[in-house]
Amino acid sequence: MVKKAILLICDGLGDRPIKEFGNLTPLEAAKTPNIDKFAKAAETGVMYTLGRGVTPGSDVAHMALFGYNPYEYYRGRGPIEACGIGIKLEHGDVAFRGNLGTVNTDGLIIDRRAGRITDVKELCEAVDGIEINGIKFIVKAGTAHRAVVVMRGKGLSSNISSIDPKAENAKVKTCVPLDDTPEAKFTAETLNQFTEKSRTILSKHPFNQEREKNGDLVGNIILLRGAGQYEHLQTFYEKYGLKGACVAGGGLYKGIASMFGMDVVDVEGATALPNTNVRNKFSKAVELINGDYDFVFIHVKPTDSLAEDKKPNEKRAFVEKIDDAFAIFNQLNDDTLLVVTADHSTPCEMGRHSADSVPVMFWGSSVRPDNVESFGERACSQGGLGVIEGKDLMPQIQNLLGNIPLYGA
Ligand code: ZN
Repeated sequence: MVKKAILLICDGLGDRPIKEFGNLTPLEAAKTPNIDKFAKAAETGVMYTLGRGVTPGSDVAHMALFGYNPYEYYRGRGPIEACGIGIKLEHGDVAFRGNLGTVNTDGLIIDRRAGRITDVKELCEAVDGIEINGIKFIVKAGTAHRAVVVMRGKGLSSNISSIDPKAENAKVKTCVPLDDTPEAKFTAETLNQFTEKSRTILSKHPFNQEREKNGDLVGNIILLRGAGQYEHLQTFYEKYGLKGACVAGGGLYKGIASMFGMDVVDVEGATALPNTNVRNKFSKAVELINGDYDFVFIHVKPTDSLAEDKKPNEKRAFVEKIDDAFAIFNQLNDDTLLVVTADHSTPCEMGRHSADSVPVMFWGSSVRPDNVESFGERACSQGGLGVIEGKDLMPQIQNLLGNIPLYGA
């Protein structure tokens, strides 16, 4: 009987028929002997991660797959991004994501990404720890021009507007409260003071003076958006009794796993880009599941990003790269369940997420295989699981692991 599980989520894997592929999807058109070998011994189905007619964002889709109803628990991108770069959030913190941008003396945005600045660590450190009105501002660098800001203290609200106009040659917006509460008013005022104060400090910073000398745009404003107030959630372990780990390249996915209390394990070459080392990721996952962990979540991003770029050939080639690495799962022990699916479909013809279903398969010694012979959108629609929703995924995993108690007598 299976006791442990690996969940592999290939972001945006589902697609629609592509004329050049003889009306097959990139997944159907790809040569995937390794994945199909598992599919033959698996129970398959199709899944609407947030139900029919909902086009899921990646963040909320992942929440649903882990059994956290996003309509109840989603608090915006800020807290997830903060968790993703390793900030330990406290109940009541308000977190934002943002960019280091360039603003002129009239408050006009010259460049939202400060000339594609590659490292903002020094600039973030210069304004980290500022206190205004009893509120502490925690400022940490993300990748390239990105940063995360957390407001910590009493009486905060996330119901405030963004200051990022999301366009160049536009004025930086003043943050305003979005409701009548004293908390929203206080938070907006304090944030505006922080924006002014940090702008003064950043404008004079030696790092920026050096950039100016070299003719580069300076990072002199932190454009914040995506405010969310962190609430402590039941951890994945508390919810399921499973010790979980995450193997991912993308910050968003590390953030979601970290927010649920999973251990985020860094893997060499895991970039979330098409050059990502899928083999290293799958090997690490097998090592973790054969070790202390009961549950390993693997996330692979380029199936989504290549479809957003409307590149079906590259998406198909990346599926084949996944298949090549998939042979590593032959090393899985008898006690391990392998679940493969996606968080949503990203049809290449649209270049964005859609509300189409995604294929799903459960493989392992406790699984009742169906007659499906390959892993694809149409093949899996004939599978034994039928049509499920994202919220059904963890209960089915828990059932196969023998963790669902008897209802009734
Ligand atoms: Zn996604």
